[in-house]
Amino acid sequence: MPPDDAAAVVTSGLRREFGRITAVDGIDLSIRRGELFALLGPNGAGKTTTIRMLCCLLRPSGGSATIGGHDVDRDPLAVKRIISVSPQETAVAEHLNAWENLSLMARLHGLSRRETRRRSKELLQTMGLEQRARDRVKKYSGGMKRRLSIAMALVSDPDVLFLDEPTLGLDPQSRRGLWEHIAGLKGSVTILLTTHYLEEADALADRIAVIDEGAIVALGTADELKASVPGSGVTIVDADLTDEAAEALRSRWPDLRRTDAGAEIADEGVSLDDVVDVLRPQGIAVRAVFRKKVTLDDVFVHLTGKELRP
Ligand code: ATP
Repeated sequence: MPPDDAAAVVTSGLRREFGRITAVDGIDLSIRRGELFALLGPNGAGKTTTIRMLCCLLRPSGGSATIGGHDVDRDPLAVKRIISVSPQETAVAEHLNAWENLSLMARLHGLSRRETRRRSKELLQTMGLEQRARDRVKKYSGGMKRRLSIAMALVSDPDVLFLDEPTLGLDPQSRRGLWEHIAGLKGSVTILLTTHYLEEADALADRIAVIDEGAIVALGTADELKASVPGSGVTIVDADLTDEAAEALRSRWPDLRRTDAGAEIADEGVSLDDVVDVLRPQGIAVRAVFRKKVTLDDVFVHLTGKELRP
């Protein structure tokens, strides 16, 4: 892969084996500065192992990775200075309040008292915790604890933030709440997020790498990935078609397939008016004409032949 000055994270043939298990099987990535990048895959796909190598918690068995130009294997200290990790388990002190947790973290990072106050205040605001800053964390909801955990990971003002399954175990409402806060960080810090929630990758990520059995099986924006699924650019015609009516449609759109509901036309730009123009002379009422919606679920099934379910 050619060197990329704008890249915050670059991996080339990154591998990790555990005995006979190949957890990560030659991953090539180039994540731009300020990008929110999602690694999306089912349990055991190799997401956490990849993150652990990038955070210098685990040595690669092969290939290489750099963060901000520093090699994770050769220069882990330089890497650790510019990254931060918010792990799957929320790492906050339950008997302290949010302010105290953040202040403690800031002092550990060597911030002055004044800087500590400024940074803690700013992060409490960013993560929407200022109203509850003086309440003990043990009284917080799961979503609030996660927000605090992310705030703590941001104290050191990292270049790259790793979020490993940030919304795992949260109810759908808290998950969406957390998405808003994560989205608010976009552009200010490079974020590498792992998830097995398709909606999460869809809602947050600039680009998504779909990972399965240790390898990247697709990479692109959510829209690009959806467009790669056969049937994505299809218009559905919902109408009781006679053979003659279907033929009339086919003479206008040759790529037409009859279905139980009516027909599918392999052209995403067909409008209701166009279809009505053709079918009215046939005496056929059109119930609906719409573009087939492809989800990232469809992408995953198409690529791997498996369902992606947490
Ligand atoms: P999850 O969503 O469950 O966290 P994941 O995509 O993060 O899954 P990994 O935790 O990276 O997947 O695991 C990838 C593979 O490597 C799995 O088969 C796992 O059992 C194996 N593995 C991970 N860590 C170890 C280890 N320390 N020793 C042996 N095998 C491991």
